[in-house]
Amino acid sequence: MSDCLFCKIIEGEIPSKKVYEDDTVLGFEDIKPNAKEHYLFISKDHSKNVNDMSEKNPDSIVHVYNAIRKFTRENGLEESGFRVVTNTNRNSGQVVFHTHFHVLGGEPLKGFGA
Ligand code: 5GP
Ligand code: ZN
Repeated sequence: MSDCLFCKIIEGEIPSKKVYEDDTVLGFEDIKPNAKEHYLFISKDHSKNVNDMSEKNPDSIVHVYNAIRKFTRENGLEESGFRVVTNTNRNSGQVVFHTHFHVLGGEPLKGFGA
């Protein structure tokens, strides 16, 4: 039994508002959105952060980005614009140690030169 919050979401032990699912990737709404639209995309294969992911299962990064492309294309976010963020360890503010890609959009986003 995994102690990881996002593995529990994948297994359906903890509910989530799913927006995308395929064999290897899950996308769901962030519980505390930082933008009008805020989703989290994760691989079903557990890793701690993006460096761990690229070392253990580099294909899963491609799978996650393919899922993000399909999802953002289908729901208008590609056209209006979106941002992908992944936090790694303490200084980034990472709190959930199952690699996740924040997908933010639905309104003009501040920061990063915007
Ligand atoms: P981090 O800071 O680790 O990059 O981001 C973790 C994200 O997970 C945060 O944006 C937080 O709101 C989200 N989160 C934490 N717990 C849950 C949960 O139980 N369900 C969902 N849907 N999101 C969560
Ligand atoms: Zn996990």
